[in-house]
Order: sequence, then C-alpha cells, then structure tokens
Amino acid sequence: MIRIARPGLERIPTYAPQPLVGVDLDLRDNTNLWGAPPRALAAVQTALQSAAPAAVAGGLPLAFAPANPITQYPSVGASRLVEALAATLGVDPRCVVTGCGSDDVIDAAFRALASPGERVAHADPSFSMVPVFARLNGLEPIGVPLLADGAADVDSLLATGARIIYLCSPNNPTGTVTPRAEVLRLIEHAPGIVLIDEAYAEFAGTHPLWAEATAQEHVLILRTFSKAWGLAGLRVGYGVGSPALIEAVVRSRGPYTVNALADLAAATAVTEDRAWLAQVVDEARANRTRLDALVRGRRGVRPWASQGNFVFWAVDADAMALADRFQERGIGVRAFRGLRGIGDALRIGVAPWSQLGRVAQLAEELWP
Ligand SMILES: *Cc1c(COP(=O)(O)O)cnc(C)c1O
Repeated sequence: MIRIARPGLERIPTYAPQPLVGVDLDLRDNTNLWGAPPRALAAVQTALQSAAPAAVAGGLPLAFAPANPITQYPSVGASRLVEALAATLGVDPRCVVTGCGSDDVIDAAFRALASPGERVAHADPSFSMVPVFARLNGLEPIGVPLLADGAADVDSLLATGARIIYLCSPNNPTGTVTPRAEVLRLIEHAPGIVLIDEAYAEFAGTHPLWAEATAQEHVLILRTFSKAWGLAGLRVGYGVGSPALIEAVVRSRGPYTVNALADLAAATAVTEDRAWLAQVVDEARANRTRLDALVRGRRGVRPWASQGNFVFWAVDADAMALADRFQERGIGVRAFRGLRGIGDALRIGVAPWSQLGRVAQLAEELWP
C-alpha cells in the first residue's frame, strides 16, 4: 500500500473550533464586534460594483477596464498594502511582508528561517497555533512557563538556545504584556531569530518597535488586520523586519496570498480609517476595564492584567462547565483547561457595552 500522509502528520492537532449552537454573541475569537472600518468597506463595495459585467457592457473594451478584483490576479505580494504600510509606519517597503492573515506570515517565517529539526521556543501558554505551525514545518516547539505576572520569562527563553524565539505581547490568551526593556533584552541576546507577535498591540498602547526591528537583521514584528482592524474575514496580516529577513519570508510564502479585495481594504483602512480605529480601541479598553472591575475581588475568579481586546479570568471551577453556562445564555466564550501555572480560565472578547450587559449579568450570578 502507498503511504499517503507524511509520517507523524496525524499527530499534529487540526484547528477545529466547535460550532456553537444557539449562540448569538460570539466572544471567542477576539474579532472586532464594532464592525468593519467604514472607508475600507466602501472601497470594497465600489470595487465589487466595478467588477460586475454590467460595468464593461457599456462598450468599454475589457483590455482598458480598471483591474478587476475578481477576474484578475491581484498583485503578487499586495503592493498597495505594502506601500501604504511603509508610508504609515515610516519604514522602507522592503521591510514589509504581507500574508493571508498573520498565521500565514508565521508559517512562512518558520519555513524560511529555520531548518527542519531546529527549535522554536515560546511562552506557555501563548498563541496555540505556534506549536502547530512549528511542527508542520518540521520544527520542535519548546514551551517555557510565563512569569507569575504574565510577562514572558526572557532568561528562560534565551537559555533554550532555540533557533527561533517567539514572543507574543500582549500575550494570547492571558493578555499580559512583556515590558519593553525585556523585549529589547531578548532582541539583544537572542542566539537566532526573534518573532514578536503584536496581534493586540493597538489595545495596549505600547510604543511601536518598528525602528528597532528594522535596525536589527534578526527580528520580525507580526501584526494582523483580524483584531483591532475588523477585517478577519478578509485574512490579512503582515510582518516588519530587515530587508534580508523579509526577502527570505517572501520567498517561502509564495505569491498571491493576499487577495485583491483584502489588499484594497487593508490599504484603505491604514490610510483613511485611523480615527475610526482610535475610537474602537478607546471603547474596547474602557469595556475591558469595566468587565474586569465586575469580578475583581470576587471568590473563585481572578482577572489577569489583560491589555488585549479581551479579558482573561482564571477560575476555580471547571472552565468548560462555566462556558456551558454562558452558552445557555447565547454567549460564546473561550474555555481553557489546566493551563500551565494557571489552571482553568476563560477568555472573553470585549464588544460594545450594549452587547456585554448579558455577560455582566451572568458574571454577577456566577461570582456573587
Ligand atoms: C488572532 C491572532 C493572530 C492572527 O491571526 P490572523 O487572523 O491569521 O491574522 C496572530 N497571533 C495572535 C496571538 C492572535 O491572537
């Protein structure tokens, strides 16, 4: 018989979230529940209208029609977005790589920057896809416990000597931030490549690391349009680093991973929707504080100092059973069981307060 899958592939977990029955408020994915950036949305709508056959039926020869985002290939590497990001971040366009979500950039970076058999060190708990992408690329993930305050343990990460050190700040799922001085110390002493995942940086208000990342050859900063920017469905993420590192990631990523509508939406968002973003971020931060305040000091629940668009509550009860209680009220929350050094916990995304009233009410009942 011919072997089909590569040996060991079946042992790598597949990402398969449960479909939630009867849930009309899904707070599991930390997406933007305020909606999509308005100018970006309008640009996509206009582009779609111009893509319809009616637009060319008026006699305009196809060859002279504007680039059609449906029938034509997009630019190879989302050139519109790369230019827009370079201009807003103040970096050279050769320092920016885009992808089909930052997941795609992480995957491509692992493949580009490490050889099969080498190691990826990361905090535990941290972003659940990191050990998965490591294994898919033949790398060995090593989890290092977080410090008691939720920051990454930089000394222990460095002590692994791993080829790639991945650091997520604010960390998913705890929301905790690693102090800037510690991040810079990691960059300075790392024996190999450093990946810094800033998927939630907009909500933390931390000082950007663009200058540091592009001045060092071995650093890649990762950002996404799926969280604060409200474009999760279009799948866009990016990385910023030195030209040498970015070139390697671009090579391993392959062409056309950002589609034409995603390129247009993300580029429009960063140039025209900044005021909208600032408003969403302000409200998300306020609602995060408000949710945490509700349970702080209550028995059986301990809110962590999350700087993301979600709260993270360590709980004394079974997290799955608690998530079921939320589900009975039509609310989806993410349950974690037996996290290293933490135990059971819930991660709950923030939303406009008009939607969170139900969450607040149930929290009052669960932790009186
Ligand atoms: C959500 C998330 C991402 C990325 O998501 P994409 O949708 O693939 O851009 C990356 N890192 C962390 C820590 C996340 O939480």
